[in-house]
Amino acid sequence: MSFKALLVERDEEGNTSASVQELEDSRLPDGDVVVAVEYSTVNYKDGLCVGPGGGLVRTYPHVPGIDFAGTVESSTDSRYKAGDKVVLTGWRVGEVWWGGYSQKASVKADWLVPLPDGLTTQQAMAVGTAGITAMLAVMALEKHGLKPGQGPVLVTGAAGGVGSVATAILSNLGHEVAAVTGRPETADYLKELGATTIVAREELSETVKKPLEAETWAGCVDAVGGDMLARVLGQLKYGASAASIGLAGGAKLPATVIPFLLRGVNLLGIDSVMQPYENRLAAWQKLSESLPMDKLEGMIQPATLAELPELGARILKGQVKGRVVVDVNA
Ligand code: NDP
Repeated sequence: MSFKALLVERDEEGNTSASVQELEDSRLPDGDVVVAVEYSTVNYKDGLCVGPGGGLVRTYPHVPGIDFAGTVESSTDSRYKAGDKVVLTGWRVGEVWWGGYSQKASVKADWLVPLPDGLTTQQAMAVGTAGITAMLAVMALEKHGLKPGQGPVLVTGAAGGVGSVATAILSNLGHEVAAVTGRPETADYLKELGATTIVAREELSETVKKPLEAETWAGCVDAVGGDMLARVLGQLKYGASAASIGLAGGAKLPATVIPFLLRGVNLLGIDSVMQPYENRLAAWQKLSESLPMDKLEGMIQPATLAELPELGARILKGQVKGRVVVDVNA
């Protein structure tokens, strides 16, 4: 028995190369559940792992793909049986464990969730890690008091994966959405997802000069970090929160504590990788209720395993729009 996968190999000089190969089933890692993968996707971390890994990959040869959806082929865990539809995001699968860029995956049962009602495996991967992270961010903002009608909610890195899903969810929940993008040509796409205002990246990328600016945003889902997040903190309305999910613009936070002390704003950290099972189920449930499927369809760019090396390089340059959905059997 064999399966096709994108295998990343490293030579003695440390150079990596990725190619689609036919592998024997015996090479799969030792998990509880073997899944016939149907779809995977391309996240920023996948871009790193398809290339030299950026410190995320521990051993080579490696199969990347930090998320997937498919059908259980066999299971030694009583929670899953052959034929069950399942989804996996996080748990460092695709980084330290062989992932979803493959027709087969063998994983721990604890890492899976049942495919949410009302979603196909393709739609679940259009959501993927980016979408579940966007949902966790919106849920955290709501938990800290965000309600529709309080003013515009800012989404940074809006044309990317997390940003696109966050824009669509927030808009559907009744929020006014201001979408920050460095790609003006994506304005129509972002408006179709529900953004009411487009903010040019340059307007927010200058380093903080004044710790407090006009109170503008009722909340923020931030995929960018760096100077932009530092600026946004000083522009949040009194008591509002920013959910920090990513570092597309940088890992540093050159901010002052003044917005916390004088405006009582909150900075909320969002991690999707180690979220407990119950939180994942809650996020998937809320996603299937609050993400309109026509908007999700509008974000999808289809891809095959062979296209992944090029797509991985492009996502690292911020050149991928919306959600790439990889049909591993195409
Ligand atoms: P994408 O590449 O799809 O989106 C990132 C977007 O950020 C780009 O599309 C671009 O949007 C914007 N951007 C890129 N470079 C810069 C820059 N130098 N300055 C300002 N904006 C920039 O990636 P994802 O949406 O998949 O992931 C976004 C971030 O979230 C990544 O850092 C990723 O590692 C992180 N992440 C974290 C997770 C967690 O659990 N916390 C889970 C998933 C992702 P535009 O063109 O519109 O400006």
